[in-house]
Amino acid sequence: MSELSRSIAILGSTGSIGRSTLEVVKESRGLLQVFALTANTNLALLCQQAAEFQPQWVVATDPAQAERFDWSALPKGTKLLIGQEGVQQIATAAEVDTVVAAVVGSVGLTGTWAALEAGKAVALANKETLVMAGPLVMKVAAKRQAKILPVDSEHSAVFQALACGRREDLRRIILTASGGPFRRHSAQQMQTVTVQDALAHPTWQMGPKITIDSATMMNKALEIIEARWLFDLPPNQIDVVIHPQSIVHSLVEFKDGSVLAQLSPPDMKLPIQYALTWPERREGPAKKLDLTKSLQLDFEPPDEDRFPALRLGREVAEAGGTAGAVLNAANEAAVAAFLAGEIPFLKIVPACQSVLAHHPFDLSPTLEELLRLDIWARQEISRWICP
Ligand code: NDP
Ligand code: MG
Repeated sequence: MSELSRSIAILGSTGSIGRSTLEVVKESRGLLQVFALTANTNLALLCQQAAEFQPQWVVATDPAQAERFDWSALPKGTKLLIGQEGVQQIATAAEVDTVVAAVVGSVGLTGTWAALEAGKAVALANKETLVMAGPLVMKVAAKRQAKILPVDSEHSAVFQALACGRREDLRRIILTASGGPFRRHSAQQMQTVTVQDALAHPTWQMGPKITIDSATMMNKALEIIEARWLFDLPPNQIDVVIHPQSIVHSLVEFKDGSVLAQLSPPDMKLPIQYALTWPERREGPAKKLDLTKSLQLDFEPPDEDRFPALRLGREVAEAGGTAGAVLNAANEAAVAAFLAGEIPFLKIVPACQSVLAHHPFDLSPTLEELLRLDIWARQEISRWICP
């Protein structure tokens, strides 16, 4: 392998993806170097990470938390920035090769956007960026010749499998979904599920928002929209199949009927590492598939009646325009309300449907319009919950 050396900035280093990224860095024997880290509330962990990885900068995005915090544990060589402007500064710094977009939610858009505008490669975990503003984000990436490397495991799998054939020979892509903790629940059983039940994902350890999205299958809806823009595919070429073992991370079918897939145990360190070392591959810390033991791979069609988010995701992928930003923000607010005990599980998707149904649709919105609608949709969810 060539002597790859990449300087990275991790936006959201204290989260699930951020922490896995640092494990990949640690195993890279100095070839990946941390230039900057950002955190929102977990500033003690940010200091620990800084002590271990010695970045030039750390950014604390919440000014109120940052001012209250005792920064004495921050290493001498690491400088502190506070607020979103700090994110812009490190995401565009000349020293940075790759920005890892690992913040959760639409708040992740501005850092990713700044990085792309500066021509940086972006290892994209924050799918909300593409759901919200896919066409605009892809346009700025193309204009600045900035590469977007998918971290989402399904999209990493599709990205890898697509490389095996010609684009004009593609029939469709098939995103796999674990089905989440309620795969076998009846609609009636889902009426009484608790926050704790919904947070108990069978195959993946992730942050709370995406874990709830997996339970409603809104995560797969968001991933259909993410794939639609990332790979420039019409929604009728994007299918979903339930695969409870989460070993086949997605599949690509070509015209002749050949189906190519990417397999590995469920461990985000693999797609993270591939995004950071692309186009090279190297030894790394991700778990390996052990085919000396018997292995069962099951596939079944999704049930869109029990998981109506899937239908909604497809409709939004078809509609384009402002629909993605509204769905995304409504879902973020509805998930927060569910986690706070304000609405039952089965109200999350209808709340999103309702806000989408009466939003002022525009086919070609500007970024400012999308940011305004992001705020509007959250307010609508609050009104929907407490009319
Ligand atoms: P986590 O909740 O574990 O981490 C979120 C990160 O974002 C934390 O570093 C958090 O900081 C930071 N953050 C939260 N709110 C803000 C804010 N307002 N401003 C700035 N930073 C903020 O999430 P995950 O790591 O699970 O997910 C991150 C992204 O990756 C999501 O978009 C998710 O959809 C995507 N993804 C995640 C996968 C996974 O396996 N976890 C798989 C595929 C995609 P702090 O903790 O300091 O408050
Ligand atoms: Mg995924």
